[in-house]
Amino acid sequence: MKTIPHLIAGELHAGQGSRFADVYNPALGEVIARVPLASDDDINAAVAAARRAFPAWAETSPLKRARVMFKFKALLEDNAQKLAEIISQEHGKVVSDAMGEVTRGLEVVEFACGIPQLLKGEFTEQVGSGIDSHSLRQPLGVVAGITPFNFPAMVPLWMIPVALACGNTFILKPSERDPSAAMFLAKLLKQAGLPDGVFNVLHGDKQAVDGLLTHPDVQAISFVGSTPIAQYIYETGARHGKRVQALGGAKNHMVVMPDADLDGTVEALIGAAYGSAGERCMAISVALAVGDIADALVEKLAARARQLKIGVGNDAAAEMGPLVTRVHQQKVAGYIDQGVDEGAKLVVDGRGYRHTGYENGFFLGPSLFDNVTPEMTIYREEIFGPVLSIVRVPDFDTAVQLINSHQYANGTSIFTRSGAAAREFGHRIQVGMVGVNVPIPVPMAFHSFGGWKASLFGDHHMHGPEGVRFYTRMKTITTRWPDKLTAEFVMPTMK
Ligand code: NAD
Repeated sequence: MKTIPHLIAGELHAGQGSRFADVYNPALGEVIARVPLASDDDINAAVAAARRAFPAWAETSPLKRARVMFKFKALLEDNAQKLAEIISQEHGKVVSDAMGEVTRGLEVVEFACGIPQLLKGEFTEQVGSGIDSHSLRQPLGVVAGITPFNFPAMVPLWMIPVALACGNTFILKPSERDPSAAMFLAKLLKQAGLPDGVFNVLHGDKQAVDGLLTHPDVQAISFVGSTPIAQYIYETGARHGKRVQALGGAKNHMVVMPDADLDGTVEALIGAAYGSAGERCMAISVALAVGDIADALVEKLAARARQLKIGVGNDAAAEMGPLVTRVHQQKVAGYIDQGVDEGAKLVVDGRGYRHTGYENGFFLGPSLFDNVTPEMTIYREEIFGPVLSIVRVPDFDTAVQLINSHQYANGTSIFTRSGAAAREFGHRIQVGMVGVNVPIPVPMAFHSFGGWKASLFGDHHMHGPEGVRFYTRMKTITTRWPDKLTAEFVMPTMK
């Protein structure tokens, strides 16, 4: 049985703990590796390594740090297919989808290649007579990233390139369910010339996370995962004096206006709801059908969902793979049972799907519910699986009010031909990322990614300008070179 090691100070370590987690191939339903769960000694070793590496890396010029990112970018491009296969093997998503994830991660590396420009400060000459003022941004020190299973390369890459380019040293605690992508990224970073200890991978569960959250030498925590854990991370990290950005769960609504292009909307919705088996924080899990478009929308969606091609990772024709674990598959199936019990109409039932030749795999077919109401559990909670709920609403105002009343506020979209409706939607909706005829409005790397309300705890979104602000702190220096200094007893004001 393969054991996936930690990476500390550039060396692979088996770890000093005695606890391990199983890593599955979800298509086969078999354990393919095990991963050590860090002990306190492992946590301390990783933090000490990152702390030792910090002074030299922080003193390295932004230009030289950018050159490492340029090499890392080239290596990622050369190895994208290999990385996508690693992701697919442990996560279950099809390789073509995993390639998309790699590309979105790569784009953050490209953004970080511009760090000399991004770190330029501000300067004002003559803020007072003979006095100048400038501000600059400096790295924080040792920072940690704690990431979810659903994007084992992209989400770490939302953090790592920006944090490193800004001059920090980094400890990644990847999901214990699909940890190999993190190790592959570490290998490429080393090949790119990153000094040992600047990037470390610590595997583990709550113990590792708590160790990082409370460690006095960790300055900041970036977290992506479910909302209860995100809230815990934010509160615990803040209590221990750390800067925290903690991105949580989602329930993303798409508003389908009566004037929307029906066929195009169905295609957008089917990909956004069932791609990656719905295990995306920006998946659309609720469609709000406005007015009389509902019957036709449900009919076309159902027909399309029934034709969806389910397959294993390397099946080039597959549109959706298995779920990540048996436990998660059963949880999602449990939500479908609950939806039926609560009175929603199950138009397409994905329970009981078996994939020929992979009978032990964690597969579920796509499910489609109609007549879902806001009181139902399947509307209120994040399911994180291939389940789409249709809520029928009479008008635009009801759609906006429903979305704004939901606890989650990660992403949303509107499909319409009306510029006025789209403009009004963008203005009134209380959600962090909004699409107009774009089903999954994930911002590009040079913008920033983040939701509102229970989808993000903290102030800073990920990557883009917000990422640079999160991973640096500002210093403002006021300077004068007078011939003679005199005592001043009143509050200094500029003359
Ligand atoms: P999760 O919250 O179970 O795990 C995330 C990380 O937290 C993992 O590294 C895990 O080891 C750690 N963790 C788990 N339980 C913990 C505990 N009790 N104490 C401390 N740490 C703990 O999330 P997941 O199942 O891996 O990922 C799916 C979730 O992530 C979904 O809710 C999804 O919406 C969310 N997500 C959000 C975004 C976003 O940008 N908002 C992006 C991707 C995923």
